[in-house]
Amino acid sequence: MSLLVVGSMAFDSVKTPFGEREGAIGGSATYFSVSASYFTEVRLVAIVGSDFPQSELDFLAERSVDLAGLERSEGETFKWKGEYGFDLNTARTLDTQLNVFQDFRPQVPDAFSESEYVFLANIDPELQASVVEQVKSPRLVACDTMNFWIEGKRDELVKTFGMVDMVVINEGEVRELAGESNVLKASRKIIEMGPSTLVVKQGEYGALLIQKDSVFSAPGLLLEDIYDPTGAGDTFAGGFMGYLSSEEDMSDASLRRAVIFGSVMASFNVESFSYDRLRVLTQTEIETRYRQFSDLASFDRI
Ligand code: AMP
Repeated sequence: MSLLVVGSMAFDSVKTPFGEREGAIGGSATYFSVSASYFTEVRLVAIVGSDFPQSELDFLAERSVDLAGLERSEGETFKWKGEYGFDLNTARTLDTQLNVFQDFRPQVPDAFSESEYVFLANIDPELQASVVEQVKSPRLVACDTMNFWIEGKRDELVKTFGMVDMVVINEGEVRELAGESNVLKASRKIIEMGPSTLVVKQGEYGALLIQKDSVFSAPGLLLEDIYDPTGAGDTFAGGFMGYLSSEEDMSDASLRRAVIFGSVMASFNVESFSYDRLRVLTQTEIETRYRQFSDLASFDRI
């Protein structure tokens, strides 16, 4: 029932065909935490600079995100700048400023070291590995990444994947890391690196849950109003891990429901810039959308 996340907290400057935002609050751990907080309490390990607004930290604390593992450092918070064309599935990174991340060595507080569920959100794979080493006997460790690390720290990333039970990444990243264009073959190559389960995020088209001998396919929701896909992957992961840790059940049925809850949370996130939509969600909205997903993909067995 205890969920730990390590990842980035950021200022994002994002441009989509529907508008732009400078210096919006973002970061993989931020999106993850807000999303997971609808299911369970979250323990956050991250770093921010002295420019990060206290009001946002207060908001996280109000949502039962435990900030005991948050380092506040002199200097500037991590900054990411990206844009999307009409294909909203692929972000183009224009600039990455690591800032306080440059010297960040995540410290898992003693009170967090027995966390049962651990999510290594998108961050330097060496930092992800150092967090796994600080957690005593987790039930599930899952991990995300992005092309920035696949291209810049491939060996370190493969080593980290060897330490986790599950990988949650985009379809394009699966292909790039495996050097294989067929998604199923590419996924199997990643499973050979160590994780037993792969969740492949397919942007607006849905997500796949792939294990050695099984595949589950969740649909995308076909939303009419998509403004900003930034953070959709992290929000997905928050819903997925948040649900799993709240249920304490890792059966196939539970994993499938977790994929749908991840998809539900991501579908809300893309309806606004930053995590504006996630701030004001209700449990009823989450459950109603879960049922929409179920209706969308249900058909008779013959
Ligand atoms: P996604 O869920 O893939 O859309 O993730 C978007 C978030 O990832 C943004 O809020 C960024 O701040 C964050 N991000 C972008 N590049 C990096 C990076 N190299 N390391 C860690 N976080 C990043």
